[in-house]
Amino acid sequence: MRQSLLAELANVVGEENLYTGADASDKYGQDWTRFFKPNPGAVVFARNADQVVRLVGFANEHELALVPSGGRTGLSGGAVAERDEIVVSFDKMNRILAFDEVENSVTVEAGVITAELQRYASDKGLFYPVDFASSGSSQIGGNIATNAGGIRVLRYGLTRDQITGLEVVTRSGQRLALNRGLVKNATGYDFRHLFIGSEGTLGFILEATIRLVSPPGDPAVILMALPAMEEVMNVFSAFRSRLPLTAYEFFSEEALLHVMSHTGVSRPFATKAGYYALLEFDRAAAGAASATEAFASCVEKGLVSDGVISQSEQQRGNLWRYREDISASITPFTPYKNDISVRVSSVPGFLKAVQEEVGRRYPDFEIVWFGHIGDGNLHLNILKPGDWDVETFKRKCEGVSESVMAIVARFEGSVSAEHGVGLLKRDQLGFTRSEAEIALMRAVKKAFDPNNIMNPGKLI
Ligand SMILES: Cc1cc2nc3c(=O)[nH]c(=O)nc-3n(C[C@H](O)[C@H](O)[C@H](O)COP(=O)(O)OP(=O)(O)OC[C@H]3O[C@@H](n4cnc5c(N)ncnc54)[C@H](O)[C@@H]3O)c2cc1C
Repeated sequence: MRQSLLAELANVVGEENLYTGADASDKYGQDWTRFFKPNPGAVVFARNADQVVRLVGFANEHELALVPSGGRTGLSGGAVAERDEIVVSFDKMNRILAFDEVENSVTVEAGVITAELQRYASDKGLFYPVDFASSGSSQIGGNIATNAGGIRVLRYGLTRDQITGLEVVTRSGQRLALNRGLVKNATGYDFRHLFIGSEGTLGFILEATIRLVSPPGDPAVILMALPAMEEVMNVFSAFRSRLPLTAYEFFSEEALLHVMSHTGVSRPFATKAGYYALLEFDRAAAGAASATEAFASCVEKGLVSDGVISQSEQQRGNLWRYREDISASITPFTPYKNDISVRVSSVPGFLKAVQEEVGRRYPDFEIVWFGHIGDGNLHLNILKPGDWDVETFKRKCEGVSESVMAIVARFEGSVSAEHGVGLLKRDQLGFTRSEAEIALMRAVKKAFDPNNIMNPGKLI
């Protein structure tokens, strides 16, 4: 960005809020995806609504694009600035503003780290259920903008289900208080839900009011070895009919091997298997006997070949690590991530079809399977061979992804279950959203952002 414009920008947002460190581009110009070259024009720290309104006015006047940036843990390139945009970071808007003890709700600034909110809820004797491996870095604003899911959707729902109010600033500088924490509000279009999952394309999320829930009584984890992928949903049904499940995850032997080599942990049990299922349930609500019964029944039917149940809080945490450390363990291999979903009842047929296609189309690549399979969500990761350059690898994966997405479309699923569309999945949107829907999405975008300055090029 021109020096004179930068100087003007500094006046508008406050010089101390313009980040000019040598790492500005690498640190604030990208998220966890490594397929795009970061090239932001400037990095600004959002401080309050008045300042963001001034910034938006400046961007309109000079036709400058704005990229909202949270914890930059996104996996779809949503927070990438590659075309001289102004990155607007919420790192400094990280206060917990109010707790309502009648409603058990909390109002926070967008930059509060997800794990911070979880700790806050726990200190109040409550629970913030949205959780995933990047919770220690991701921000509430980013979670809302991507409608983040994670490991406990099965029991508690998505980020969307926890949000009762939002404060936003639109590109025209309007400050909107959306739903204001109300439980009931039947007054037409609910713009709160439009902003949830909008990936920074409609405006900035500055504050959120969030419902907290009662904590689970005595959560326990069971990790099991499965001889074949087909058994994943049979085991799910066997446990779900007997236990109040809070999570049901699966991963492949390749995923386990990466976690072991990355973190140095040993195998959870001696038996090796092609696939593993990890479930969490509330032992207090279930009674230990029903878990043992379900496990015994699965072993008897040949669905499960080995397993372990946590006996302490520490063991529960240790078992979760086998699942939660997969993403970090494969990151050095520049994984191309497919984050796809279908209805839970369609999972068995879908897994079979995808497995066949992937075996046929990716014979030379290492494939790592895992996912929140109890929600119908599969993470299919293709690892880059060491001697391939990133661009050639991405092109090859995009080509093959077309046939995987055609299967997703055939099963009436989604090309992005929870990571968002961003830059990475934008060209795949049409597989699972109709032309009519995409045209309406464009019209909504235009109504909020006619100059197309809010995160342009992302999502649609
Ligand atoms: C190891 C690992 C595991 C993960 N596991 C999961 C998982 O299980 N489930 C899941 O859903 N995701 C998962 N993710 C993806 C990621 O953590 C989520 O998408 C998360 O919600 C992103 O939050 P963030 O603050 O990092 O957002 P960013 O990456 O900074 O931004 C994401 C999007 O939100 C927009 N945005 C950010 N802040 C604002 C704001 N204040 N106002 C408007 N728009 C904004 C950005 O422009 C961008 O489009 C994982 C990521 C990693 C690295």
